[in-house]
Formats: sequence, structure tokens, C-alpha cells
Amino acid sequence: MRFVDEFRDAELGQAVAGEILATVEPGRHYKIMEVCGGHTHSIYKYGIDDLLPSNVELVHGPGCPVCVIPMGRVDDGIAVAREPGVIFTCFGDMMRVPGSQGTLTEAKAAGADVRMVYSPLDALRLAKTNPDREVVFFAIGFETTAPSTALTLKRAKAENVPNFTVMCSHVTIVPPLRALLDSPDLRLDGFVGPGHVCTVVGARPFEFIPADYGKPVVISGFEPLDILQSVLMILRQLDEGRCGVENQYRRVVPYDGNGRALEVLSEVFELRPHFEWRGMGFISQSGLRINDAYAEFDTERRHEVPGVRVADPKACQCGEVLKGVIKPWECKVFGTACTPERPIGTCMVSSEGACAAYYNYGRFARERQVV
Ligand code: SF4
Repeated sequence: MRFVDEFRDAELGQAVAGEILATVEPGRHYKIMEVCGGHTHSIYKYGIDDLLPSNVELVHGPGCPVCVIPMGRVDDGIAVAREPGVIFTCFGDMMRVPGSQGTLTEAKAAGADVRMVYSPLDALRLAKTNPDREVVFFAIGFETTAPSTALTLKRAKAENVPNFTVMCSHVTIVPPLRALLDSPDLRLDGFVGPGHVCTVVGARPFEFIPADYGKPVVISGFEPLDILQSVLMILRQLDEGRCGVENQYRRVVPYDGNGRALEVLSEVFELRPHFEWRGMGFISQSGLRINDAYAEFDTERRHEVPGVRVADPKACQCGEVLKGVIKPWECKVFGTACTPERPIGTCMVSSEGACAAYYNYGRFARERQVV
């Protein structure tokens, strides 16, 4: 297949759904986690869930970059944004994530100079055109976006831009998956692996899942047929009593990742001992920070970052949604107090968030035939 329409072919989709139906064991319940928020979005946009037999359940994972940012980190960002002379930059979604004292959008309305950018390079450009101001870029995301931050830092150093720093909140995908697999309240049968992250890290880092936990992983693309085929590949592994890492997204993901991007990451970043995840608490070695060679560009070393720790509001169940313990509509405030226009939790902010995907595509409940 070469063109995107071919990956959305309804007849082929029905054929793969038929193969899935023929592969599942009646009476057995299968729980498969799609790790990446991009997959969650595609699943509900294209109604992939409706093509699966009722005993195949897709569970959403922690792979939405905005969703995993804890409230305290937003408060930290707002504190920096309020400093005199600072231009605080971030991606658009991040401006709407609620902290305990409101959002960055509200901080902007109250006078802080907060600006939306499309890339870290935009922020660097802003620093160069505003030499009398301090420009801070709030960097979020998994290994997918971290290389662009790393390359921007390398350019800032090469061009000697003294008024640019990065508030690094990049995270890595393997530690939260291990935390989920160690969690007693979740039984999973397999994983649809995060295709975007794997374009950088490759498929190899996921080998611990079959090796240590005996579960299959299939690295998947984001079109409807990609996801259906990946689910089929997982079910076939289970049916044949084997488990391993398979790469459905070979047209994009090299098994060993992108060597140049990995090299740039290790040149600029190092692992933090701990990083806080929304609803999941502190997870060891799950966050990146800027290393000593780039210390002059580290917001946390150049500004007063309070390091705020805030518990999520009682009504918010983002943690359970991110761990796949509950479905979005099971949260008490879903679609009432919490909507994309007025989100309480992060999962309702980003289009990759499970709650936003359910809300936007009107999938509030699920009724399917029992096999
Ligand atoms: S509905 Fe809102 S508060 Fe509830 S889990 Fe989703 S984002 Fe969080």
C-alpha cells in the first residue's frame, strides 16, 4: 500500500475484522493497551473499536504528552512566566492545562507574557529578536519531540544565544510501562506499541515486555488498517502461545531506531532520578533533564523554579484513565464539569487525550454483540 486512502479502505478493514473474529477464543476476554494517544484518537475517530468482537477490549495508555504533565509542573511554569522580563513559550495545548492556580492562558490574561509556538526553533527565533528579554521554552513530550528540543539547544549553544532557556519536561516511555505492568490492579494481554516514539527509539526497547512479563507487543502505525492489523498480530501471538516484539510499522520504524536522533538526545540530556507523572506519582528515571554541558540553557538552573507538588482535584480521575483502569465516561465529571472547553483534567485538553477523543467523537458508551 502506498497511499493514505488505502490504509482507510473499509472493505479491507472488514476483512481484517473478520480475521480477528476468527482468531479470538470465544469466552476469553482480551485486554489490549494502545500506549499512544495518537492511537486512541484514531481508534475513536474511525470507530475501530466498533469493528472488534465484544471480548476484545482496547485500553488506553499513558502515551499522551500533555496528559501526563502534573499540576505542580504547570504551577512551576506559571511562576517562571510571571517573572519580570520573561517571554514564556509553549505549545498551544499546554496553555490550557490546569494547574492549581489556573492555566498559562489565564496567567497570560493576567499580564504574563505567555506565547504559543509551533516548535522550539520558534522560541529560539523569538530570543534572537528580543535580546533584552529572557525567552523560556516549556518542552514537553516523549522521545518523539525531545530530539527537536535537543537540536534547538545545540543551535542556541552554537549561535551563543544567551537569553534562551528550556524548562525541560520531556519524559521517556519505557519506565511508565514497566510501572503499569508491575501494577496489581491491571491485567493486560498485550500492547499496541507507540509508533511515533519508536521512530526514534526503535522497537528494541520494548523487548522487556515479552521477556519479563510474557506479553506480546506490536509496534503500530496510526491509520485504521494499521491498528486493526496490529490487534490481529497480537491476537495471533496469543493464539499461538508465543510472545515477542513485532513491527507492523516497518515503513517508518527501524527496529533499532534513529541512531542520529538517539545520539543528539544523549549529547544534550540525561535521565532524572525521578519525575512526577499525572496520576501515577513519581517514576524512577522517567524524565529527561539538560546535562551540565548545556547548563546555561537550563531554566531550572537560571530561574527560580519552585518545584510545586500538588495533588489532583478529588473529582479528577485522569490517573485511572492514563493507567487504563477506567474508561473516560466512567469519570464522574466527564462531559459535565469537565469538557474540552472547560477541562478539569489533562486528558480532556489535548486531542490525543482519551477523554477528549471520547468526547469529540461522541463515544460515551459501548454496546456490542457478545461473541
Ligand atoms: S473527564 Fe476530565 S477529570 Fe475526568 S478523567 Fe477525563 S480529563 Fe480527567
